[in-house]
Amino acid sequence: MTILVTGGLGYIGSHTVVELLKNEFEVVIVDDLSNSERFILQNIEKIAGKKPAFFPFDLKRKELLTQIFDAYEIAGCINFAAYKAVGESQEKPLDYYENNLFTLINILQEFKVRNISNFIFSSSCTVYGQADEMPIDENTPLKTPESSYGKTKQMGEEILKDFATAYGRRVSLLRYFNPIGAHPSALLGELPIGIPNNLVPYVTQTAAGIREKLNIWGNDYPTEDGTAIRDYIYVVDLAKAHVKALQKLITSNEETVIDIFNIGTGKGSSVLEVVEAYERANNVSVPYEICERRPGDITIAYANADKAERELGWKAETSLEEALRTTWEWQKYLESRL
Ligand code: UDP
Repeated sequence: MTILVTGGLGYIGSHTVVELLKNEFEVVIVDDLSNSERFILQNIEKIAGKKPAFFPFDLKRKELLTQIFDAYEIAGCINFAAYKAVGESQEKPLDYYENNLFTLINILQEFKVRNISNFIFSSSCTVYGQADEMPIDENTPLKTPESSYGKTKQMGEEILKDFATAYGRRVSLLRYFNPIGAHPSALLGELPIGIPNNLVPYVTQTAAGIREKLNIWGNDYPTEDGTAIRDYIYVVDLAKAHVKALQKLITSNEETVIDIFNIGTGKGSSVLEVVEAYERANNVSVPYEICERRPGDITIAYANADKAERELGWKAETSLEEALRTTWEWQKYLESRL
């Protein structure tokens, strides 16, 4: 069975391609290399022992996308191709709406005319905003995200719900919490361009001496140590959730399915806890300074992921420290390539 994976050379996409190949799916990757690199394709092959088909183009080019659907019998899609920088989305909202939503609609148009079902969408816990109660389950009310990036995720969910309902198709919306870590082989991981925005890549570059110190954005939050709390989910665990979600859609007897799952560990960790775990796991030192809060940051978010366990038979298996160890191994691999 052939699955289209858009953004399949990206951070979460590449890990998911490996899991799909391990589970005997054929994979066709479309990735425009805007936030990924070609060597990732070779590394996928090294890990999985199989090479997926790969087409480097921008999904806004609908005529090229149509050719892919003509050439392969696509049975489903996992759609990772999207811009994801929260801050940048505030400066370039139109680019975000165009890139994240036009491309989604282009794929769904092909699904519609060719009668294809089974679509997995990368959503985000950002759709909950600062929830009133923890942990966050799938019935927690949504809040309009502050960033245009977050809005593209919320709008993407609505587009997919309407698509499934109107045309009788199966879709799964996966709301990721904070993905971290790298493949245990150290051949796949996150490739931050420029100065990282996210915590773990920044901590890694600080430990490696690329950054002088970590700026901790605020220690006056109403949490035990004053720093903000998130649910850090290991990227390979997250990748496996996609395969489970896809298998559920494929084996469903229902014509119309709209699945929504939180994909997190169920455990919250503060920024300081992450820094300490990183130092412990890797025997490194991460100098930091406490700074003002970062605008738009919420205090706390962690998942109740029981629904994914109940309905997908999936749960996070990897500890924070273990995930942070893989991150450091990946950093060493990147340095060895220089
Ligand atoms: N954070 C920080 N310093 C950094 C990057 C992030 O203190 O250089 C904090 C940030 O304020 C938040 C947490 O780490 O509380 C996770 O931030 P990230 O950007 O990784 O994810 P998100 O904000 O999307 O949850």
